[in-house]
Amino acid sequence: MGRERAVGIARGAGDAFSGPRKRLVERLREQGVRDARVLDVMARVPRHRLVDEALWHRAYEDVALPIGDGQTISAPGIVALMSETLELRGGESVLEIGTGSGYQAAVLARLAATVTSVERIPLLARRARTALDDLGVSNVLVHLGDGTRGWLPRAPYDAILVTAGGPEVPAPLLEQLAPGGRLVGPFGPRAGQELVRTRRAADGTLTEERLGPCHFVDLLGDHGWDT
Ligand code: SAH
Repeated sequence: MGRERAVGIARGAGDAFSGPRKRLVERLREQGVRDARVLDVMARVPRHRLVDEALWHRAYEDVALPIGDGQTISAPGIVALMSETLELRGGESVLEIGTGSGYQAAVLARLAATVTSVERIPLLARRARTALDDLGVSNVLVHLGDGTRGWLPRAPYDAILVTAGGPEVPAPLLEQLAPGGRLVGPFGPRAGQELVRTRRAADGTLTEERLGPCHFVDLLGDHGWDT
């Protein structure tokens, strides 16, 4: 880990919210999050810095919070679960669809080598970039665009995380998944989706696992819901 990133983490860890953050991580552990790296990262990424200051006092509750434009920062519990489900070991190139606040991207940045994150709303993409810079997160690239089409320039990806709910797994994302890779996201009807993990085997074969119900804001775009 580079010096710049270590400084970013230290600044986050020593803040007034380290107590509430530790208690949150204890709850995540009780809820069944097992991956020690994920728990460690959740204890260090200062979630309050990714929301408006008026919401700082709620930043370590396990709830989604508004971030503007009708969008939300995902609840820490689902961020931890999805991160764990990607089975990251540290060297991966990850694609995230739906940058939103930048919180999930900041978590992935500590678990993998590089993160490419695509957001369709310009204001959110700009704010997330600024917040990630303030935290010293230097291995996340934020791009503006329709993430249901993936991000071809940096494909293929070892792991792909979709953080908005779509009708089905977008085909371009499966095409951009490396052999041995995992794609995780909420798919199914608008009213309530299921968390789905798709694996691409070394020979290219795809297998799908259903991991339980969840509810996300809409994935809008060419291979999502109509805008
Ligand atoms: N990962 C975010 C969660 C944000 S909510 C966080 O940690 O805060 C989902 C986000 O997906 C919203 O910001 C929404 O604008 C975005 N989104 C929806 N459809 C998209 C698409 N086709 N491409 C990129 N982003 C999309």
